Amino acid sequence: MAAALGDPVRHALESVLDAVRDRTDGDVASYIPELATVEPEQLGAALASTHGVVHEAGDVESEFTIQSVSKPFVFALAVDALGLDEVRRHVDLEPSGEPFNAISLDEASGRPRNPMINAGAIVMTSLMRGDSADEKFAVVRAGLERFAGHDLLVDEEVFSSEASTGDRNRALAYLTRSAGTLGSSAEVATTAYFRQCSLTVNARDLAIMAATLATGGVNPVTDERVISEDAARWTTAVMTSCGMYDESGDWMVRVGLPAKSGVGGGIAAVQPGQFGIGTFSPRLDARGNSVRGVATLELLSQRHGLHMLQHH
Ligand code: GLN
Repeated sequence: MAAALGDPVRHALESVLDAVRDRTDGDVASYIPELATVEPEQLGAALASTHGVVHEAGDVESEFTIQSVSKPFVFALAVDALGLDEVRRHVDLEPSGEPFNAISLDEASGRPRNPMINAGAIVMTSLMRGDSADEKFAVVRAGLERFAGHDLLVDEEVFSSEASTGDRNRALAYLTRSAGTLGSSAEVATTAYFRQCSLTVNARDLAIMAATLATGGVNPVTDERVISEDAARWTTAVMTSCGMYDESGDWMVRVGLPAKSGVGGGIAAVQPGQFGIGTFSPRLDARGNSVRGVATLELLSQRHGLHMLQHH
């Protein structure tokens, strides 16, 4: 049976992790002080198929904060709840070519450049239903839990750490508030956003969340429809153009999978119609993308022909 033959996908993941394991370049995030305490050697990857089969290698049980990997999923929730036209009144969908924390605002429309950078993501969180930060965060959390297929916890240390140092994000919230695109007060938006970024996940969760986009919005493990097919397609499109910040163009050439990174060390990548991949490794490159996560996805893509624009 399959088990007796071994799991070729797991072997492929393990082989790639072995190839990148010795890389020690990059640094754990330290601008959120609590993230500097994370064990940097952790390395894990998981692949979830659109049929709900999950393959795992390395440290797939290690929990870390989702950080910016939450952004596409919250964008998906916003689009699903409000429709694309309403969401686009608050955020543009153009690659910024700028870092994730850029002071990004189109002068004429007051919109941040896209929902994958902080300015746009904070606006997306502000659009969630409810008046208070608690209510908005509850909507975010419930939505992300449906993508992951189980309850998600907040890392309170990381939350306090970011809340006490997150003045640049507050500045982005006030800026968008003054431009008329934020959907709440700046304080409500940033508090809910900091809690959103502090939700803990593991590599398997990210694989299943990504696979939920790959199916067109149905979690393949729980079989629950989380968002509409349109919302899933638009989200995957924005990940394609903007998910890796100012590395997005280069990423699409080298790896060719829509993806989103976070400063907690996670990356979620989508192969529409086929699978989602989640990786975890805490050391980051200068753009805030996981060094060994990028290397893992690049090698997987090269070895197994995963580039979405490949001619088969
Ligand atoms: N919480 C982080 C921030 O807002 C998320 C950034 C990231 O993961 N790139 O700065």
